[in-house]
Amino acid sequence: MGWQERALCAQTDPEAFFPEKGGSTREAKRVCTGCEVRSECLEYALENDERFGIWGGLSERERRKLKKRVV
Ligand code: SF4
Repeated sequence: MGWQERALCAQTDPEAFFPEKGGSTREAKRVCTGCEVRSECLEYALENDERFGIWGGLSERERRKLKKRVV
C-alpha cells in the first residue's frame, strides 16, 4: 500500500472524490493539490484504469485525455 496511507483524501469526505455525474469536483481537486502522494495516486489510477472518481487531482475525463496523449 504505502502511498495510500499518506493519502490526504482519507482524512476528508470521500464522497467529494466520487461526485455524481455533473457534480462539482472542485473540492476534491483542492484536496489533491495539497496531497503529498499525488503523483503516486495518479500513476496508480492510470495503471489500474480507474474509471470513477477523482484521482491525483484529475477527473475521469482528464485522465482519459492524459492517457491518449501518453499512448
Ligand atoms: S492525490 Fe487526491 S485522490 Fe489521490 S490520494 Fe491525494 S488527495 Fe487522494
